Amino acid sequence: MRIYNTLTRKIEKFIPLNPPKVGMYTCGQTVYDFTHIGHGRKYTNDDILRRVLANAGYDVIHVQNVTDVGHLVSDADEGEDKLEKGAKKYGKTVWEVADFYTNHFYNSLDKLNILRPTIICKATDHISEQIALIKKLIEKGFAYDTPEAIYFDISKFKGYGKLFGQNLNEKQTARIDVQKGEHKKHPLDFVLWFKRVGRFADHAMHWKSSWGDGFPGWHIECSAMSMKYLGETIDIHTGGEDHISVHHPNEIAQSEAATGKPFVRFWVHHTFLMVDGRKMSKSLNNFYRVEDVEGKGFEPLSLRYLYLTTHYRKQLNFTWESLNAAQEGLNNLRKLCCKVSDTLQGKRSVLSAEKLTKIQVYSQRFKTAIENDLQMPEALAIAWEVAKSNIPSPDKRDLIADFDQVLGFDLFNHRKGYTLKGVTFSELPNDVKKLVDARETARKDQDWKLSDQLRDKILASGYKIEDSSNGPKLQKI
Ligand code: AMP
Ligand code: ZN
Repeated sequence: MRIYNTLTRKIEKFIPLNPPKVGMYTCGQTVYDFTHIGHGRKYTNDDILRRVLANAGYDVIHVQNVTDVGHLVSDADEGEDKLEKGAKKYGKTVWEVADFYTNHFYNSLDKLNILRPTIICKATDHISEQIALIKKLIEKGFAYDTPEAIYFDISKFKGYGKLFGQNLNEKQTARIDVQKGEHKKHPLDFVLWFKRVGRFADHAMHWKSSWGDGFPGWHIECSAMSMKYLGETIDIHTGGEDHISVHHPNEIAQSEAATGKPFVRFWVHHTFLMVDGRKMSKSLNNFYRVEDVEGKGFEPLSLRYLYLTTHYRKQLNFTWESLNAAQEGLNNLRKLCCKVSDTLQGKRSVLSAEKLTKIQVYSQRFKTAIENDLQMPEALAIAWEVAKSNIPSPDKRDLIADFDQVLGFDLFNHRKGYTLKGVTFSELPNDVKKLVDARETARKDQDWKLSDQLRDKILASGYKIEDSSNGPKLQKI
């Protein structure tokens, strides 16, 4: 397996430290506002990486944090705390904001068929681990105390710029704002612990520490939690491309200063989803949510299909036309898969040598594509070739079902284009499936009376049914 490593700027062979285990850490969301489809792209690509690793036989432990404290409006510690900002905007407490948007985040990702991480860890549940790490950094001389904060001393750490490829003098930096009462020594020194003084005197989230009441800076949570769950050196760390310049160099500095060991072996960064040529983002307020996509009659999985049409290291510009094309692509691929399922005869015929070779070649080509730095557009094209090929149905089904373990379209769970909410196709009771199929037939025959009667029966079985251009939509009630 080969993956692009931001640290070396090369595609490298990936071998985990302790095979078959792979420790993978993903920077999660700052939960102060809605999850949008730009996040959707990023976390889908993490999900693809995880599935590709699993497909290659690795046992992936995927850890993802939830940032519910300490992330200021600018990644370089400027402005308000994002959670406090969200609380003011929505008239809620910071804790309510964090809970609400954490749920919104994971519900949005569920709709995109993104597997839940093995461990989800909140920054506010790991304050003591963060305090312990800061203490260690102070003891080792990498951090210093000031009236407003504990800062990491960047001048003490050699190789700060290795991720973004510049040395300290070349990097453009904001100036130290003495007016705001900053006592840091170098503009790139970053906060490990904010004291509850000055502009943060009323900060709602705060904990006791030997440096006084306060709260952790944003970066320290990822070092503390990844070390806790994955050890001092981890195989893979992922994040959005914006983290290459500040957040991840800071994570490296504080982790390596504390342990004296390499923090991460492979850094994987995802390129943004754009809209009208700009990053889709909460702060620019130019975002769409998964609900907006559903509101326009698209399935969330059409987004997943759209994301996979572009390599994760290339920009993707979102338009409704491209989503429409993705939905059609998904519908058509499903239609071919339905045909395969419908013609399954249970018994397999003996494969000719020619067909056997063809299957093996498809399978190998798919594996080569996904294991070559996640060439998903190519993998998708191979899935299409197989769906249209003349290999016998049972083998075609097996092969596409295998591919779908990685693609994650649930191709055989959406028979006849059902859209499901609150239930998966396999959980849907058989008698309800039969009622839905019978109703589809009645609708085709324009027997509206029967169609209405069947809808009432489906409702009585606990499912609301609606019709859409993509087939019936079923919601568990
Ligand atoms: P946030 O909580 O908004 O800082 O973002 C969480 C993660 O999503 C970060 O790794 C960001 O880089 C990433 N992200 C935010 N916006 C986008 C976007 N438009 N496209 C892709 N990734 C994004
Ligand atoms: Zn992080």
